[in-house]
Amino acid sequence: MLANYYPPYNATVVQKLLNEGAIMMGKTNMDEFAMGSGTVDSIYGPTKSPWRSGLRYKLWHRNKHRHQASSIMEKEQFSTFTDKDWFIAGGSSGGSAVAVAVGSCFAALGSDTGGSTRNPAARCGIVGLKPTYGLLSRYGLIPLVNSLDVPGILTKTVDDASLLLNVLAGHDPKDSTTVLDPFCPVKISEEPNISGVHVAMPEEYYCPGMSSEVVETWKEIADLLERGGAKVTNVSMPHTQYSISCYSVLNCCEVASNFARYDGIEYGHRATNESSTESLYAATRHEGFNEVVRGRILAGNYFLLKRNYDKYFQKALKVRRLISNDFLGVFEKGVNVILTPVTLTDSPPYSLWKLKDSRQQSSIEDYCTQPANMAGVPAVSFPCKLSSQQLPISLQLMAPCFHEQTLLTVAKWIE
Ligand code: GLN
Repeated sequence: MLANYYPPYNATVVQKLLNEGAIMMGKTNMDEFAMGSGTVDSIYGPTKSPWRSGLRYKLWHRNKHRHQASSIMEKEQFSTFTDKDWFIAGGSSGGSAVAVAVGSCFAALGSDTGGSTRNPAARCGIVGLKPTYGLLSRYGLIPLVNSLDVPGILTKTVDDASLLLNVLAGHDPKDSTTVLDPFCPVKISEEPNISGVHVAMPEEYYCPGMSSEVVETWKEIADLLERGGAKVTNVSMPHTQYSISCYSVLNCCEVASNFARYDGIEYGHRATNESSTESLYAATRHEGFNEVVRGRILAGNYFLLKRNYDKYFQKALKVRRLISNDFLGVFEKGVNVILTPVTLTDSPPYSLWKLKDSRQQSSIEDYCTQPANMAGVPAVSFPCKLSSQQLPISLQLMAPCFHEQTLLTVAKWIE
């Protein structure tokens, strides 16, 4: 729909980077309209993880010379996969994650509505930050779900993510949902201290399909934090399990409304040879959207029918509030950060991923990441270790709204 579209103005986050002297290198691949968790549903084709057959990458943060791209690549053959198959990069901002992971750029932007920055960062072994909703301007960001969307930051290290956050955060008169309070820049010491930090592990984040390696990593990092002086406790966030169904309804409803703008008249793709306005709309939207996007528009319009509005949309809003209250309840008990996995397993190979229904696959993938969007809280994913397949396993930290300082301090300590 927007393949040949060049926006006449810059997004605020892009303009802020340019103002600081950043050099924009290009646009990166993603699932169409940020719908997906693999970067496999793009008109430009799928994005491959750099962690693929024949080449093994080291985790950036283990590398002292982290800005030298060539130094991260070890030419080491491993036998299980051939060049014909490869691991998915995660998504939907998979192109951004790969660009950073291979050292093509210092940092990249993504968007995060249900995990699209944290998921590909986790799959590619880099840092993915979803800031608090309202801290970064969404002006110029193509909307998916306005009430959940946040521009995301992808970098090699936590320090780099903090640097970007400090450049990008702050009120924007062009986005009424950005907060007015002045932003206090994040400052992380070279030797971060976590003694006395209260870390919570919510039991509901253990979910069917989570690999034993992911669970082990989760426990190992919790032990590490405890040894470093943090207080680690188990907590309950009982509405976590409803997040996927709730998100599916809210996402489709906002999509149905947002995507009305792509009608072939103002901008973007326009079908030719149509004899009426109605058929121009229909043909444009049929040609310009993939199946996933069309499916969500249809579902959203169904949920928003007068007879269904209370049953689905209103109900989902109530459930969203309960999910959000789970976070408030935990933070009110004095918890500073919540530690969870990001994905249920390490990256699956593309051949396996494609066997499953992409819509279903995508929602299961987001189990651990979606709740942070429901509550608007900041969350960061960071690589912890390599799986037995030599692929990155990452974990996630979440903190109360606007507590990026604590979030990134603990992440840096682990890093
Ligand atoms: N996988 C989710 C979806 O398809 C999340 C996408 C996102 O965060 N942009 O909606």
